[in-house]
Amino acid sequence: MPACKFVLLNLLLLLFCVVYSANQRSRIDIAIFLEKNEHAEATARAIKNALNVIKAKTKYQVIEHVFSLNKESTFEAGQIVCDLVSSNGLAAIFGPECPEINEVIQSMSTSFQIPHFQTFSMSQLQQQQENVTTVLNLYPSSDTLSQALATLVKDNDWKSYTVIYEDEDGLLRLRESLKKRKPKDLSITFKKLGSGPDYRSVLKQIKNSEDFRFILDCKTDHILDILRQAREVKLLEDYHSYILTNLDAHSLNWSEFANVASNISTIRIIDLDSNQLKNAGKLWKVDSRRIKTRTALMYDAINLFITGFRDLASRNEPRIKPLNCASYDITDHGDDLQRIIRKPPKHTKTILPGYLSGPILFDLNGQRRNFQLQIIEMGKSQPRNFRLTGTWNSGNPKVISYKLTSEEREKELQKEIQTKNFRVVSRLGAPYLMERTSEYGKAYLGNDRFEGYSLDLMQEICSILNCSYTFELVPDGKYGNYDSVKKEWNGLIRHLLDRKADLAVCDLTITYERRLAVDFTMPFMTLGISVLYAKAVKEPPELLSFAHPLSLHVWLYMATSYLVISMIIFLVARLNPNDWENPHPCDPNPEELENIWNIRNCCWLTLGSIMAQGCDLLPKGVSTRMATASWWFFSLIMTSSYTANMAAFLTMSRMGLTIKSAEDLAGQTKIKYGCLKGGSTCSFFKDTNFSIYHQMWTQMESADPTVFETSNENGVKRVLSSKRKYAFLMENTNIEYESERNCELIQVGGQIDSKGYGIAMTSGFQYRKSFNEAILKMQEMGVLYRLKKKWWTEMNGGGQCKEEHSLSENTAAELGLDHVGGVFVVLFAGVGISLIFSCCEFLWMVKKFAVNEHIPFRRALKLELTFVFNIWERQKKVKKEPEKAIKQ
Ligand code: ASP
Repeated sequence: MPACKFVLLNLLLLLFCVVYSANQRSRIDIAIFLEKNEHAEATARAIKNALNVIKAKTKYQVIEHVFSLNKESTFEAGQIVCDLVSSNGLAAIFGPECPEINEVIQSMSTSFQIPHFQTFSMSQLQQQQENVTTVLNLYPSSDTLSQALATLVKDNDWKSYTVIYEDEDGLLRLRESLKKRKPKDLSITFKKLGSGPDYRSVLKQIKNSEDFRFILDCKTDHILDILRQAREVKLLEDYHSYILTNLDAHSLNWSEFANVASNISTIRIIDLDSNQLKNAGKLWKVDSRRIKTRTALMYDAINLFITGFRDLASRNEPRIKPLNCASYDITDHGDDLQRIIRKPPKHTKTILPGYLSGPILFDLNGQRRNFQLQIIEMGKSQPRNFRLTGTWNSGNPKVISYKLTSEEREKELQKEIQTKNFRVVSRLGAPYLMERTSEYGKAYLGNDRFEGYSLDLMQEICSILNCSYTFELVPDGKYGNYDSVKKEWNGLIRHLLDRKADLAVCDLTITYERRLAVDFTMPFMTLGISVLYAKAVKEPPELLSFAHPLSLHVWLYMATSYLVISMIIFLVARLNPNDWENPHPCDPNPEELENIWNIRNCCWLTLGSIMAQGCDLLPKGVSTRMATASWWFFSLIMTSSYTANMAAFLTMSRMGLTIKSAEDLAGQTKIKYGCLKGGSTCSFFKDTNFSIYHQMWTQMESADPTVFETSNENGVKRVLSSKRKYAFLMENTNIEYESERNCELIQVGGQIDSKGYGIAMTSGFQYRKSFNEAILKMQEMGVLYRLKKKWWTEMNGGGQCKEEHSLSENTAAELGLDHVGGVFVVLFAGVGISLIFSCCEFLWMVKKFAVNEHIPFRRALKLELTFVFNIWERQKKVKKEPEKAIKQ
């Protein structure tokens, strides 16, 4: 019987135990480690709130042990874990955020196989080195975050940027991963901010580095301070862009930066518009927009753990057993729980309504995967607020899906452009920009101080884009040249790089080197290098210009030869018996022979042949014929040479030019040539691969005195004053302008290259597309043509040389009276002399007649003149001389 009693008692005890344990909820102990700081309290409160909800919803009795520790308390942390593990056992550990304490806790959680939920950034490298399996990190790994940043940088078309980091952790997190994803043409500078709170000196250094795009990696609490100081050192201007890596940047109070013009973007993992977050805000009695990522992640971690625990319990009840801290004991539940959390059953529902940081999945290292980041940016409209611009998914890391379509973005930019007043830098140089001369002592102000093509161009662009602009002059007046020794730019490019202006408008050539430093619009004018030279000054034609084909010496030699040959023929004819002829051919035995080759006839023969007229008297002797034939040959050559040379001579004097192209310049040394120092024209010759142009560069460089000019205007002056001893290599647009006004100037040859003028703009200028479209529109509407015509041919004395051009073109083949006047002179002089001679001969004949007839000279003259002017009288009586008459 006592035995029966004992059995019954035992059964009752067992029943009591079963009933008690059925009513008793299973106890789950968890340890939560927070970093001792001003946020610890808020996080603890959030955790408590979350746990209260969980406690109400689950069958488990969750006992949380929350500790706020500072980073020195590593020993204390170890002790706490040890105590908790050995008293009731630990189901999971959460936190801490500080790496020092995390190290201790992580090693203990690994050895006991307790699931360890982390909510702070850790590099993939750190994670892999530790070879941990118990860690589940809800914070995106720095490597994945860097992928998002790299995509953002690429999409924003950043060519160079500076990573400003606060501590070595930041550097470690970003350096490798950003460098790994760096395209070849991108340069990244890393700059450490230091411990603060005064960051000004580093910020000033960054300002001097001329970079204007930054990735700022710092603690949440320091962001506003750093930006405040950046604003003081002028590192928060409208052309600066920032990407903040801190996932909590959105939660700060940005009201004081509502008016800054810089671009500020950041990323966040929590969706501020989600209902879960809004509910959590209500539950915790805080503004949901101010909830920090670490709090949200801690909340998500507890949710994740409890959900996992529930799913595990649905398969077999997990047992949380106390462990001996000194032994190598491991938990029963740890491994299974890890596995189920990493691979949750399908259609599982979270205990709390959803996760605040989106769906949670882990990779093999316990790092989060397939999560979404929101890209947020400070809106353009005032006052500026953060707004969502796109989302990035770690599953597709190279793509950001933007909320705004490119058209919407473009429209936004167009709206924004209307509020802009662009600072335009330029240089004086006709016809692009000229100073207006003040009338009646009235001083012009602002843009009214100038006039010219550039001003009109900006005016037209802004009338399309609805913007405004202010012109200013670049102090050194230069276009922009890179000094490779000093490693700096000058002129307009320097001004843009210094961010003293937004745009540079003038005859600024788009070159590869400049394009690397600044951006350009599409060309608004195309051009090429050509040669500016002075036209030949036309000498007034000389009276005796017909004599020019032969030199004076040749004329003299010819005249001498004429006399000598005439004498020789005379002598030879006297010597030659064949030239002694019978004066009376009917008398076969004449008493005398006659030689017709007296000096007069000889001279006539030679003269007739050199004039290509011939002579009716011809020699008969072989030697005389030989001498005469030699003279004829000489005459033939001389006459044809004269004729040919005359034609060439006349053509040459009309053309006046001795060079026809730039290549002709290279092949001679008499005419010096140069270009604008520091301009793109000189750069062309300096850098060209064409040997002929490079040879020209060598010649220019070695010329003494220098052939380079400091401005195109000086080049033009030098061409004009050098009397065709200097040619200036200049862009044909400018040559065209100058030769329209100064008719002495001429473009020689065509263009030796082809390029364009563009509007230069600070690198990354966001309205470039709008400017390009405006230029294209102007080109299609003929505005660019109209502007060119206005400033080249209509304004400032343009179109002056047109008449002269056309005149010379029409009369190119004609010879004026001036050119042939000398020939007339010779004709009339010859005829005049012949008249004088005939008068003399006549008077001589009259005198002889008067003597023979014994009549007075006057009467004889009268008789003879009467006969001469009686033109009907065709016969004249022979007057015999007295002696002859006596003889007869
Ligand atoms: N337009 C040129 C430049 O931008 C000047 C020149 O070389 O004529 O440098």
